[in-house]
Amino acid sequence: MKKLPIKKLLLAGGGHAHIGLLRRLRTKRPDHLNIAMISEQSQSLYSGMLPGWMAGHYSLSDISIDVLSLCKQAGVNLIKSAITSVDADAQNVGTADEGHHSYDVLSLNTGADTDLSWLVRAQLPLNQDSFDQMPKADTPNNSVIPIRPLHHFVQAWEDILADARQRNHYQLAIVGAGAAATEIVMAAKVALQAINPNHQVYLICGHDLLSGFDTKFTQRVIKQLERLDIPIIYERAQDYVGGELVIETKSIPINSVIAATGVMGAAWTQSTTLETVDKGFIAVNSVQQSRSHANVFAVGDVASRTDTDMAHSGVHAVHGGAIEADNLMAYLADESLKTYKPRSRTLYLLSCGDKYAIGSWGSYSLQGHWIWYVKRYIDKRFVDSYK
Ligand SMILES: Cc1cc2nc3c(=O)[nH]c(=O)nc-3n(C[C@H](O)[C@H](O)[C@H](O)COP(=O)(O)OP(=O)(O)OC[C@H]3O[C@@H](n4cnc5c(N)ncnc54)[C@H](O)[C@@H]3O)c2cc1C
Repeated sequence: MKKLPIKKLLLAGGGHAHIGLLRRLRTKRPDHLNIAMISEQSQSLYSGMLPGWMAGHYSLSDISIDVLSLCKQAGVNLIKSAITSVDADAQNVGTADEGHHSYDVLSLNTGADTDLSWLVRAQLPLNQDSFDQMPKADTPNNSVIPIRPLHHFVQAWEDILADARQRNHYQLAIVGAGAAATEIVMAAKVALQAINPNHQVYLICGHDLLSGFDTKFTQRVIKQLERLDIPIIYERAQDYVGGELVIETKSIPINSVIAATGVMGAAWTQSTTLETVDKGFIAVNSVQQSRSHANVFAVGDVASRTDTDMAHSGVHAVHGGAIEADNLMAYLADESLKTYKPRSRTLYLLSCGDKYAIGSWGSYSLQGHWIWYVKRYIDKRFVDSYK
């Protein structure tokens, strides 16, 4: 058997693809690889169960995957820091602790940031300064709380609950029109109602609620929002100033605003020599390889395929991640790479706050308590597979 030279593989971020790769490396670890992972957190939170955690159905540990333990079992060195830059010409990754980490092959799976470009005050040129000026999750009152990064959001949500417990009337707004926004608004409503029936939660969804989903599915979701008495405001949010959420025709007094408004490139993509597209996503080809640097692979929300239209979603992070992991190993062994062909239809299970869920598969949809239990079974099986 041919002996391969020692190579440095650097895994940046603890997203779905990398935790899947760590699991695989526990039992099948190539000897010629020196592998390190950079991750700010030693726990990775599973977004699919986040609304269930908000609604009180799960504990934080139920929805967490222990990245540190996976790294130890896989013989991977965990560097606990945040990536701040990638100089792909010099093959070097910069981190928040002023570290510099060289690599032969780099894999990027850092996810993305919440797109806050709808905020009037964020309408600045997309550069590091504009990122720095964007509202941060750790200043809870009178600032917009982005749903991502999730580990910031979980702290902000605890702060919202603590604040709501002190008040007789609390108004929360969720801005967003996708599946995540609708799940979050229903989970938030269930949680706040349990504290005080006076508390109210609004969905500010602009003019394209659940675009991309079948109309029947959208109607089912609207019915559930109505059942939970959640006002749906079909206007675009523009700003949040002095406790008032400014929308197209008026402003509404709101105690806290959560943004689940889609994704934009992670902040570090402002400091990279890699080719990026759209709002700062790493441009990759059909094998999830950077279009500008062949020894860099990227998958999940951090990347955008340039050969096909592919939504940023957990499904693609998981399935694309498995192919990307194969390709990393193949590239390092000088073998041929595989294309990730996304399925035309994917199963979506949308939780409705109180142990009720709606399922969608292409143009088919169903709903019921039992779907929530199916979702719980699938989600728990996913998280438990890393234990
Ligand atoms: C509430 C909610 C529910 C959702 N439900 C679904 C669903 O049911 N189905 C579905 O398909 N999609 C769903 N999504 C979308 C899904 O969460 C994302 O598409 C998916 O998580 C992307 O996976 P990823 O591996 O790219 O990154 P992520 O899961 O975001 O993981 C990225 C990791 O990298 C780390 N990281 C980030 N920045 C840095 C940095 N600078 N340095 C080091 N580490 C960093 C993060 O802390 C994180 O651990 C949901 C999203 C939300 C918000």
